[in-house]
Amino acid sequence: MKKFDTILSACMLCPRGCRVNRLEGEKGFCQGGARAKVASHNSHFGEEPPISGSRGSGTIFFSGCTLHCLFCQNYPISQLREGREVSTPQLVRMMLLLQKNGCHNLNLVTPTHFVPQILEAIQQAAIEGFKLPIVYNTSGYETMETLKQLEGVVSVYLPDLKYGNDKAGADISGVRDYFTFAGPAIKEMYRQVGNLKVDKKGVAQSGLIVRHLVLPDDLSTTGEVLRFLADNVSLDVTVSLMAQYFPAHQAQFHPELNRRVTAREYCKTVKLAQVLGLHNLFIQEISEF
Ligand code: SF4
Repeated sequence: MKKFDTILSACMLCPRGCRVNRLEGEKGFCQGGARAKVASHNSHFGEEPPISGSRGSGTIFFSGCTLHCLFCQNYPISQLREGREVSTPQLVRMMLLLQKNGCHNLNLVTPTHFVPQILEAIQQAAIEGFKLPIVYNTSGYETMETLKQLEGVVSVYLPDLKYGNDKAGADISGVRDYFTFAGPAIKEMYRQVGNLKVDKKGVAQSGLIVRHLVLPDDLSTTGEVLRFLADNVSLDVTVSLMAQYFPAHQAQFHPELNRRVTAREYCKTVKLAQVLGLHNLFIQEISEF
């Protein structure tokens, strides 16, 4: 791993490439500092079945984000940056506690802007007996350099692929090059960990699960996302098609985002995935309204 101080003194952890000196108190787009900032750490049962299993996924929610999605479903943590700064020993204790509580894995939620701090904590936790599989739960907006630091450490990649082109990301998530980076990032994750592998109880041990939140009026450019996965990743890749969108954060000020997805819209995306040959799908139930 490149030295912790070197990375944070001219931060290039994500594609924003702010080059700020976070060790000296400078802040980039994500507002992340020298220490990791954590909103919560607990057992979580709302992830895909192989991630939550029967005993829950050990989530650590990091505060702040490298994107600014108008509809963010998690905006108090990602946009308002609720949480507290923690030292490496505190982060280590959280990891060990989640393991002690019986969680199946350590699920790092929105971790990109704190990767060096997280890697340092994992190294120290391992010395103290930490051995859970690590789930990297990301927006998908990643650089190749950061992903290379994670090779051999992360067992399960759980990225979003929010859009299939850059324009949609610019319109909705405040980033001009989302797909330019997320597309290759997903391919790199697949190269590192391959298809999803589960144990006898169906709990994930390794592999890639790509999440896609279906937005109203196809604002999520779902067809392009699914075609990219089918043509450029693998027909065997596991895809979680999410129907749970609700207008949150600033969505109420944008009429096109200010409603839920209909059953008809969602079913159309599921059918398209099947027609394209993507056969490892997590599908949610949705009620018509
Ligand atoms: S992690 Fe934050 S400070 Fe670093 S490049 Fe990305 S947005 Fe900028």
